[in-house]
Amino acid sequence: MGNDSQASVSVRTHSYHIAIVGAGLLGRMLATELARSGHQVTLLDKDNRLAKQSAAYAAAGLLTPLGEAMHCEANIVAMGFESLKLWPKLLAQLSGYTFFQQAGALMVSHEQDADHYQRYVRFLASHYPEHQCQSLNREQLLALEPELGRSFHRGLYLPEEGQIGNRKLLIALAQELQHLGVTWHEQAQVDGIHQQGNHSLVRYQQGKQQQLLECDYVIDCRGCGARASQSTERALPLADLRAVRGELFQLFAPDVHLHRPVRLMHPRYQLYIAPKTHGYYVVGATEIESEDNAPMTVRSSMELLSAAYSVHPGFAEANIRQHVSQLRPAFSDNQPKVLVNERILQVNGLYRHGFLIAPVVLKQVHYALNQMFNKDKISQADSPYGRWLPINQSEASFNEHLSQWSIN
Ligand SMILES: Cc1cc2nc3c(=O)[nH]c(=O)nc-3n(C[C@H](O)[C@H](O)[C@H](O)COP(=O)(O)OP(=O)(O)OC[C@H]3O[C@@H](n4cnc5c(N)ncnc54)[C@H](O)[C@@H]3O)c2cc1C
Repeated sequence: MGNDSQASVSVRTHSYHIAIVGAGLLGRMLATELARSGHQVTLLDKDNRLAKQSAAYAAAGLLTPLGEAMHCEANIVAMGFESLKLWPKLLAQLSGYTFFQQAGALMVSHEQDADHYQRYVRFLASHYPEHQCQSLNREQLLALEPELGRSFHRGLYLPEEGQIGNRKLLIALAQELQHLGVTWHEQAQVDGIHQQGNHSLVRYQQGKQQQLLECDYVIDCRGCGARASQSTERALPLADLRAVRGELFQLFAPDVHLHRPVRLMHPRYQLYIAPKTHGYYVVGATEIESEDNAPMTVRSSMELLSAAYSVHPGFAEANIRQHVSQLRPAFSDNQPKVLVNERILQVNGLYRHGFLIAPVVLKQVHYALNQMFNKDKISQADSPYGRWLPINQSEASFNEHLSQWSIN
């Protein structure tokens, strides 16, 4: 349990036992940061380390705040730009390789969708004048992406945008956690989270065994697993959380040479092609108000592949390496939330922006935890990130006594 005896003169260096539920994007990043800060961390996930059931595994890894801007609030865009500054530092601390690129992104549209494109250009100019945005004519477009010239005669270049190798990051974080000696319970389905006095408790099912873990604090990063339909009552379901289905393709197209993410402006869907390493491309992503996690539909596959082909005919010969469908965790206002109780912190609702904003979310969760450790009042104004990501009090109540938490 907590060791309160290590106070130094200037910095209080308490170390706590912290259980993190969910080892997707947030869970892994938080576990790394907290273990490095000297805490004892236990990570629990219903999946194994490959995390194939997480949104993080399915994602495209785009870090494109302006690309998202017309469909999200300004705080997400601001967190995205701040996170773009923080990512290189975070990645430099990982010994494993990962893929991070900040070579800008391109917006293009076909002639029939020119109105939509122009509307976007005007929107960015009026709402985000402080960020760079260059309208390119055909020659300039050819200079930047020579293989796009056949299909488009203009484009919008957003030089600050980036992307990250999401699966490589998950692997690098898993390796880091191993080096840091973090205990990781795989295939551990959490069905209870509780707090009482100086304790917290996590109950989980591993194989046929039901287990109890006692710790000081719990951080719940279950993503879609915290929805009311997926979580037991005892595991603090988040009633307002929903899932938004997304589908994408991973293609192998060695004959296509694009160097940066390309977003195809379309009035009905937001499609992008993101070049990864060694001839791989991600083509995504649909956004469907559905909690159905079934494999990709024919309609989505036709829309995604015909869009890719319309951007670059070279995709006709690409191999389909994977089709992915997964759920994004989102609250009804599509905003991420940090909810605190005395000993339990829940962070969720990263929606389609998990990688885009994760470094800022990490900072804000760290701030909230420090306040919890010190039993200080949480003031939004004290954290530089409070204006973008407020910390709210959770409404969960804990009426049961710990003794009622028996193992079946
Ligand atoms: C198709 C698609 C494309 C995307 N593209 C992008 C993109 O380009 N850029 C971007 O920024 N974001 C993108 N996202 C969004 C991003 O992936 C998510 O916002 C992010 O992964 C959310 O992180 P998380 O840690 O909250 O949840 P997750 O990454 O989903 O992790 C949750 C973890 O909790 C575990 N879990 C759940 N329930 C339990 C339980 N009861 N017990 C134990 N463990 C449990 C799960 O197994 C999982 O490992 C995309 C998402 C999808 C689906």
